[in-house]
Amino acid sequence: MKTVLLSLLMLAIPAQQFKVQHTDAEWQKMLPKKSYLVMRKAATEKPYTGAFWDFHEAGTYACKGCGQVIFSSDAKFDSHTGWPSFYQTIAKDRIITRPDDSEGTRRTEVICSRCGSHFGHVFEDGPQPTGLRYCMNSAAFNFIPKGMKKR
Ligand SMILES: [Zn+2]
Repeated sequence: MKTVLLSLLMLAIPAQQFKVQHTDAEWQKMLPKKSYLVMRKAATEKPYTGAFWDFHEAGTYACKGCGQVIFSSDAKFDSHTGWPSFYQTIAKDRIITRPDDSEGTRRTEVICSRCGSHFGHVFEDGPQPTGLRYCMNSAAFNFIPKGMKKR
């Protein structure tokens, strides 16, 4: 019985070892409630409610969990979905994608490569040059205005 439980647990927990790791209680303390629910519980913020869906400043978007810079405003576009959308990440190694079959459809989840926090999903109906649409939750990011020091 113990072995069965252990293998079930191992299936549920990704083998990935993230550089930045915290316990659930620590994440809960570190992050604002909305960010915690999105980033650690894969919740989706309501469309047209986040800080960045209708935000057009020049700068970069950093993971609220670990500070890693994920997107540049250069790759942001208006997707008319109510969520901030980008056609590419600032570098390929900043994120990890994995299949997400929750809600009855196959989607591709996007998480931070450094701390494993959930950002949102990526779809293949974005604009050129990539054809990708990274559909993100504002609550997962801190905006760094252009000219300020990047981490
Ligand atoms: Zn992160």
